[in-house]
Amino acid sequence: MRCASSKAGAQMALVYDRIALIGLGLIASSMYWAIKRDGLAGEVTGFARSAETRETAREIGLCDRVCDSLADAVADADLVVLCVPVGVMGAVAAEIAPFLKPGATVTDVGSVKKDVITQVGPHLPDSVHFVPGHPLAGTEHSGPRSGFADLFKNRWHLLVPVEGTDPAATARLRSLWEAMGAKVDEMDAEHHDLVLAVTSHAPHLIAYTMVGVADDLRRVTDEEVIQYSATGFRDFTRIASSDPTMWRDVFLSNKDATLEVLGRFTEELFALQRAIRQGDGDHLHDYFTRTRAIRRGIIEAGQDTDAPNFGRDGGVAK
Ligand code: NAP
Repeated sequence: MRCASSKAGAQMALVYDRIALIGLGLIASSMYWAIKRDGLAGEVTGFARSAETRETAREIGLCDRVCDSLADAVADADLVVLCVPVGVMGAVAAEIAPFLKPGATVTDVGSVKKDVITQVGPHLPDSVHFVPGHPLAGTEHSGPRSGFADLFKNRWHLLVPVEGTDPAATARLRSLWEAMGAKVDEMDAEHHDLVLAVTSHAPHLIAYTMVGVADDLRRVTDEEVIQYSATGFRDFTRIASSDPTMWRDVFLSNKDATLEVLGRFTEELFALQRAIRQGDGDHLHDYFTRTRAIRRGIIEAGQDTDAPNFGRDGGVAK
């Protein structure tokens, strides 16, 4: 198996000697640039499924060594980060399990936690620590060229340690994410999945639907949709251009929480529909006043700014 070297680590504030990034898309590439910028690992190895992505990674110097097999990539790694779509986490875990170094930590960056824990946990040997995680940072772009070192800056990273996890392994992983600029919190898997269904998964589905509806409206030609697109619709189209594989997997694996939130969404939508039909301006005004306060709370919490166009060119919570 071939392992191609690129550049050496700066070793300023080493957190792990060797980190393996499995999957070389937006999240893994952003991690690599942040890790290298701050010298957080001695060596970073990488693996992606296709030869094409591995070649791109070599071309742009993404990872110190890009390996052609999962076994080579994880060999002797102190931290293995699964950066693949949620739907294949289990299969990847099964494949790497025999090659994991005793004492290593395995984490992931999947947008859903209960399903990933169910998929991955059973494959891992007792000799490794499993500390699932989820960075609330992302863009609509994907692939090895899409990452940037500041993606996680001031964004939350949620750790979801499974029962019996060694606190020292969790603390070390926390320090890596903090060194990459993230704010770290811990949460249980069920709560995580419900919170993310509200804040990310259902909004994505609504954006996909809205863009689909516009596409279906024969009265409005595609050209008009593009030419006159206002901020609201433009935001929907940006979100709806997110990676289809990633989002298919998110909905299939966070089924219960997403359906629960969409049920509530539908009820609220019907109530607003009724208010519009009955000319109930008070209802609409009260509702929009309440939602405006939520927006203010998000800005006060530092999760967005009032600046126009913020988030459209950089990282947003996912
Ligand atoms: P991405 O840019 O689409 O990259 C995914 C990578 O996984 C690609 O390099 C792909 O390889 C590789 N891959 C796919 N199947 C594989 C397999 N069976 N074995 C090995 N590698 C495989 O994805 P991403 O946006 O970085 O997302 C990665 C994970 O982060 C997902 O679980 C997602 O839920 C989570 N996440 C994403 C965001 C976001 O905004 N994008 C935010 C937070 C969390 P090829 O290129 O060869 O196909």
